[in-house]
Amino acid sequence: MVETCLTARLGGSRFFISAMFIDTHSHIYGEEFKDERKEVVERAKAAGVERIILPDIDETTRSAMLELSEEYPGMMFPTIGLHPTSVNEDYKTELKKVEKALGEHRFYGIGECGIDLYWDKTYYKEQFHAFSYQLGLAKETNLPVIIHSRDSLNEIFKALKPYPYIKGVFHCFPGNAEEARRVIGDGFMLGIGGVVTFKNSPMAQVVQEVGIGSLLLETDSPYLTPVPHRGKRNESAYIPIIAQKIAELTQTDLKKVQEVTSQNAMNLFTL
Ligand SMILES: [Zn+2]
Repeated sequence: MVETCLTARLGGSRFFISAMFIDTHSHIYGEEFKDERKEVVERAKAAGVERIILPDIDETTRSAMLELSEEYPGMMFPTIGLHPTSVNEDYKTELKKVEKALGEHRFYGIGECGIDLYWDKTYYKEQFHAFSYQLGLAKETNLPVIIHSRDSLNEIFKALKPYPYIKGVFHCFPGNAEEARRVIGDGFMLGIGGVVTFKNSPMAQVVQEVGIGSLLLETDSPYLTPVPHRGKRNESAYIPIIAQKIAELTQTDLKKVQEVTSQNAMNLFTL
């Protein structure tokens, strides 16, 4: 556990520098947490995780996500989008709903969106179009995009080509070190989560090679729980475990990982 607040003295006056963790990807608004949400939030705070980005999935999750962000202003920050595994022949109607919601609430990013060819390739064309459309929304609104990519990095790169100035994060970065350097060069962040703690994790190798400068911490709760809690439901209180692993891999200290990743998150999502 790290201390969550540092006291500093500057120019004779005493003030607090907030040293906190930010979980940039949690579906804590989901059904999996319905009986224990308050406790999960309290455990996150106790672990120093004071801000949580809530990535949207589709219309079925949206109202729960918005309710939670209203309940915890200054802690929960919603984004808006259509997840690739929620894309089907009706995706145009769903995207209209996304656009409508964009005009009605404050959001901090577009997503999560992207292309997922791991579970099902049936709607590849639709997924590609839905992703491109959401990149257009990100450009229009000047919001960062949260990218979900599974077995689809080349397709993602192809979709990004017409949008060279988009900023965002590759959540649960799925590529190798060379691909990581490419997306960082294009101005993107890498979202690093529990996978980095797994044995022989390719993500660990990526972190070792690229360093902490362009990393964000994330859980993807309730999924991808870090070791030693693997197999259980994931939650934001495990963020320091991920940060500690990154500190070891990059031979730096936990506080540095905390500072750099939180600053990266605040800059990207304008928190
Ligand atoms: Zn997610």
